[in-house]
Amino acid sequence: MKALQYVKLGVPPELVEIPTPTPSPGQVRLKVAAAGACHSDVFLMGLPEEAYSFGLPLTLGHEGVGVVDAVGDGVDRSLLGEHVAVYGPWGCGRCPRCASGAENYCARATSLGIAPPGLGAPGAMAEHLIVDSPRHLIPLEGLDPVAAVGLTDAGLTPYHAIKGSVDVLTPGAVAVVIGAGGLGHVAIQILRALTATTVVAVDLDPSKLAHAIEVGAHHALAPGDEAVTTVRELSRGLGAAAVFDIVAVQETLRLGKAMVMSTGHQVLVGVGRGSLDVGLLAGPYEWQVRSPYWGSLPELYEILAMARAGAVHVTTEVFSLDDAPEAYERLHAGTLRGRAIVVP
Ligand code: NAD
Ligand code: ZN
Ligand code: ZN
Repeated sequence: MKALQYVKLGVPPELVEIPTPTPSPGQVRLKVAAAGACHSDVFLMGLPEEAYSFGLPLTLGHEGVGVVDAVGDGVDRSLLGEHVAVYGPWGCGRCPRCASGAENYCARATSLGIAPPGLGAPGAMAEHLIVDSPRHLIPLEGLDPVAAVGLTDAGLTPYHAIKGSVDVLTPGAVAVVIGAGGLGHVAIQILRALTATTVVAVDLDPSKLAHAIEVGAHHALAPGDEAVTTVRELSRGLGAAAVFDIVAVQETLRLGKAMVMSTGHQVLVGVGRGSLDVGLLAGPYEWQVRSPYWGSLPELYEILAMARAGAVHVTTEVFSLDDAPEAYERLHAGTLRGRAIVVP
């Protein structure tokens, strides 16, 4: 089968021909219908050798949907033919975190060598994908594969981040989303659907700001001191109840901290490697800083249900598997609108 693999450190991913995998006992194989490209893939392909831990060659793609086309021994054969979305942050399934559905925080995944597809295990940018357990498959129930696939990360991650802050997102409060790309444009829609806040998008790129308004942001601002002033004005001097920083470099952390109100939340979603001083005198009183990773299994059901209800919609640009390297070039260059989706 064809697969898009990261083969050599520092060299762009390439399309290769590899044997079609067969599912081992307990596993499920999908015929991939769609796979999403995430900025985290760009991040990992930029890591130097000493920091890179995902294995080579690595088939990319941690967002995947498809049809079950083979099952290993011990797996219910009635799954064959089912259209499913893949829950990516695989855990052991047996620790207290996994039992609660929060496999993204499995206590044992690292020690057992369990890694998500596309982030250690072979990913979804291929004609077929092996999923380690049917537990990680969620029925699409009528959702279109291209429209749905981005929800498994670009939807699930902001959904989890926002759910953790709903208590402070009271009607009339201001919510800020920094970085209105793949994750950010979905974050805006989730905020509009779950809260009655004033939603402010911040991005360096004017085209991303225009898109943010199209998907429901009330205001769209370039980063800088003026944006801080505007957020203060919109919140009658209070500041933002929550800032979702989907970039999280040093400048955006500084910006978010200048915007957030006392008792507000500064939520670091991006992997920009910025860092913050925290402490009683380091920022607004009782401000909370969180760094959420992906989301839980129940939350994936919830974000898929939001899409079925028409409350969120991922803007997509579609590429063939042959053109998948171009999808990553565009993601790297920042010229995509929404999410790049690869359809094998
Ligand atoms: P993307 O490239 O689609 O979007 C990033 C957006 O940020 C773009 O619109 C870009 O113009 C904007 N931006 C970049 N630098 C900026 C700055 N200094 N100020 C304001 N805006 C700026 O990326 P994506 O796929 O949406 O991923 C976003 C981030 O989230 C990445 O860092 C990614 O690795 C991370 N991520 C984290 C998790 C998690 O579990 N925490 C999950 C998925 C992605
Ligand atoms: Zn991702
Ligand atoms: Zn576990």
